[in-house]
Amino acid sequence: MSTPIPAEPVDVAVVGASIAGCAAAIRFRQQGRRVAIFDKKAMDDRFYKRLCTHFIQPHAVPVLAELGLAHLHEPAWSVPTKAVFVTPGGLVEGPGNYLPGDQDLYALNLERRVLDPALRAAAREQGVRFVDATSVEKLEEDDSGWLLHTHGEAGSGRFRARLVVAADGRRSRLAKELGNPAETHPNERSALFGYFTGITTRPDNRSVFIMNEKDLACVYPLPGGRTQLVLFAEKSRVEGWSGDDKVRRFLDYFDSLPDAPSMAGAVLEDGLLGYTDYPSQIRKPVVGSVPFVGDAALSLDPMSGVGCGFALTSADLLARSFDGRSLAGADPAAGLAEYRQRLEDVILPHAEGICVDSLVEKNEVSRQRMFRTISGNPELSQQYLALTGRMLLPGEFQRMLMRAMMTRRTAPLKL
Ligand SMILES: Cc1cc2nc3c(=O)[nH]c(=O)nc-3n(C[C@H](O)[C@H](O)[C@H](O)COP(=O)(O)OP(=O)(O)OC[C@H]3O[C@@H](n4cnc5c(N)ncnc54)[C@H](O)[C@@H]3O)c2cc1C
Repeated sequence: MSTPIPAEPVDVAVVGASIAGCAAAIRFRQQGRRVAIFDKKAMDDRFYKRLCTHFIQPHAVPVLAELGLAHLHEPAWSVPTKAVFVTPGGLVEGPGNYLPGDQDLYALNLERRVLDPALRAAAREQGVRFVDATSVEKLEEDDSGWLLHTHGEAGSGRFRARLVVAADGRRSRLAKELGNPAETHPNERSALFGYFTGITTRPDNRSVFIMNEKDLACVYPLPGGRTQLVLFAEKSRVEGWSGDDKVRRFLDYFDSLPDAPSMAGAVLEDGLLGYTDYPSQIRKPVVGSVPFVGDAALSLDPMSGVGCGFALTSADLLARSFDGRSLAGADPAAGLAEYRQRLEDVILPHAEGICVDSLVEKNEVSRQRMFRTISGNPELSQQYLALTGRMLLPGEFQRMLMRAMMTRRTAPLKL
C-alpha cells in the first residue's frame, strides 16, 4: 500500500528513493529543510535493487558516515576491502592505503539488500517524508516553486515544493519531461554474476580483478564466507551460454584463470543475473532549475564499479552546494551553478576513460607496456588503485604514468 501524499508543501521534493535520492534527501534534511521523497515502486522494508554488484569505491565511503550509516562497515554488514588487479603486465597490488598517508581508506563490498533498506530507514529516522508506490508524472514551475503531478494506488495528486531533485535513475522520466537527453556511449561487454558459498578467497579480504584477454573477472569476498563472482565479457564469449549449462560454463571460466580461487566447492545461491547490453549514459547535471543526481545524471559502464559511489557523491555535492543558501531569490540559481561546477570538477573527468574502457579493441602492446610500468612501480601501483577508487583524477594519474614510462625508456640497460 502506498504512503499518503503529504498535504503541506515542502522545501525539497526528491524523485526516486534509491541511493542517490535517499542520500540527497538525508543531506538536505540535515540542513533543517522539510524534505519529501517519492518512488514509483512499493518499497517494503526488504526491497532492494538486484541488478548491482555493489562494490562501493573508497571515495564514497565517508559519505555513508555523513548519512548516519558508519556502522555499515562492520563485519555483520559488509567487507571492507581493497582492490588487487591481475593485468597483462603483472600484479598491481598497491601497498598499504589507497593513497599515500596514514588514513586507512578502503572500499566496501556492501550488498544492496543491506544498503537500500538502511538508506531508507536513515531517511525516515532523520525526518524525511517517504511516499512510495507513487510516480511523479509531470512538473510545472511557477513563481513559488514547483507543482508535482503524481500518480499512485490512491489515484492522482498534486504536491508543492520549492526545489525538485531528479534522482529517478538511468531511464529518468524527469529528463524526458524537462528535455535532458542522454549522450550514449557503447558498451561492448555483457555481464553475468552470482553469489556463491564454498569458495576460499584471500585471507586479506582483497577483491581480485582479473584482466583476461578482453574480459574482466571479479572475485568479491562477502560477509559470512560468501563470495560474489562477476564476469564482464566480450559479448560473443557468453552468447552461447544458456540453459542448464550456463552455471557450469561460468564456473569453468573462473577455474581456467590462474589467479582465481578454485571453484571446486562452489555452490550457487540463486540464479545468475546480468545484462547483454548496458551503454553508458551522460546527461546535463542541471536543466532549468532542476538538478540531476546519480544515474539520472551519469550512468556509466558497471564494469567501472562507480555508480553507487557517484550516486552518493553527486547527492552530497548537490547538498553541499546549497549549504547556507535559502531556496528563494537568486540563491537556488547560485546553488545549482555551484553543483554543476563541482560535478564537472570531481566526477565528470572520470567518464571519458570509463567510456574508452567499454570498448574491447585495444593496442595490446602498449597496454602491456603500461601495466608492466605500473606493476613494477609500487608508488604508481598505489596511484592506479587510487584512480580506480576515484580518489585521483585521470589527468593526474596520466602525468605520473607518462613520467614513469619515460624514465623506464631512458633508464640505462642492465648488462
Ligand atoms: C549489473 C550492474 C552492476 C553494477 N555494479 C556496481 C558496482 O559494483 N558498484 C557501483 O558503485 N555501482 C554498480 N552499478 C551501478 C549502480 O547500481 C547504480 O549506479 C545505482 O543503483 C544508481 O542509483 P540511483 O539512485 O542513481 O538510481 P536507481 O537505483 O536506478 O534508482 C532510481 C529510482 O527512481 C525511481 N523512479 C524512477 N522514475 C520515477 C518516477 N517517475 N517517480 C518516482 N520514482 C521514480 C525508481 O523506482 C528507482 O527506485 C551496477 C549496475 C549494474 C546494472
